[in-house]
Amino acid sequence: MTKFTDFLSSENIAYSLNTSLKELSSFKIGGKAAIVCYPECAEKAAKIVKYCNENGIKYMTFGRCSNVLFPDNGLLTPIIKTDKMDSIAYSDGLFYFGAGVMLAKASKYTVDKGFGGMEFAYGIPGSVGGAVYMNAGAYGGEMSQCIVKTEYVDDKGNICILENKLHDFSYRHSFFTDRNYIITKTCISLQKGDKARSAALIDEFQSARKSKQPLDMPSAGSVFKRPQGYFAGKLIEDSGLKGASVGGAMVSTKHSGFIVNYDNASEKDVRELISVIQNKVRENYGVLLECELKFIED
Ligand SMILES: Cc1cc2nc3c(=O)[nH]c(=O)nc-3n(C[C@H](O)[C@H](O)[C@H](O)COP(=O)(O)OP(=O)(O)OC[C@H]3O[C@@H](n4cnc5c(N)ncnc54)[C@H](O)[C@@H]3O)c2cc1C
Repeated sequence: MTKFTDFLSSENIAYSLNTSLKELSSFKIGGKAAIVCYPECAEKAAKIVKYCNENGIKYMTFGRCSNVLFPDNGLLTPIIKTDKMDSIAYSDGLFYFGAGVMLAKASKYTVDKGFGGMEFAYGIPGSVGGAVYMNAGAYGGEMSQCIVKTEYVDDKGNICILENKLHDFSYRHSFFTDRNYIITKTCISLQKGDKARSAALIDEFQSARKSKQPLDMPSAGSVFKRPQGYFAGKLIEDSGLKGASVGGAMVSTKHSGFIVNYDNASEKDVRELISVIQNKVRENYGVLLECELKFIED
């Protein structure tokens, strides 16, 4: 570890040791991360990847940790966190967002410039990089609709550009989903819009979120993907599981697709509750609920 931290210091890459994953994640669950690195650009991320490859070290990448369940006993695997990749630029009708930019900030920036099409992203509490990885979406909008190209670091440490057509977007899936690549920046194209109309749309989406989602409690959003022809929340509610709990984890009484951490829940509580839900829904409806939530382990 000392060699790794020496390397990070020599490259002027910020890092923290023994960082609480509970504090980092929207679920407020998880032990300590041995090391979290904060490269501010693709070049520095590429240096980390090369160093890790040369020294046989695994690594993982996260944005705002709003779609993950971290382990109770923490992570030894170094984490690359994109918070410092926070550049924002606009040129010739195109927007360039660093992977660490919060979606709310990116969405607001496009609206302020008079463009429409990213209003859907305002209330999603993740980063631009996480949203590209997940093909995040809401209220009929999806990242796939506005991305022109994405800059990333591959698993050899090469800085690459992926054009829109190659993103392999589908529901909560992208080219990046099954690869250990680091998204560092994305370029977005939108239609000229009407600022007042965009602002009204954002207000409408935010009101809908507040009335339907348990935003006052820690969670990771919808735990399950939408099964073909059904709504996960409705299947769960119709199975009588609204409010069901294991330890400190509970099926939200406001939105049954959410699990909330209402009382110091552990990773184990959430995993057990997910199994209870999956078994019951399969028993009742023959539908296997697939998780949208990412389970993280060394
Ligand atoms: C209250 C609440 C509401 C939500 N509502 C929605 C919604 O309406 N729609 C929706 O789609 N999601 C929603 N989510 C889930 C989540 O916010 C999104 O999936 C978001 O896009 C995740 O971004 P993140 O930066 O937090 O990613 P993280 O949670 O940090 O990571 C998620 C996955 O992406 C990978 N990843 C993240 N950044 C990078 C990167 N730069 N390079 C490579 N891989 C990366 C990680 O390895 C991980 O596998 C919600 C979550 C909460 C808590």
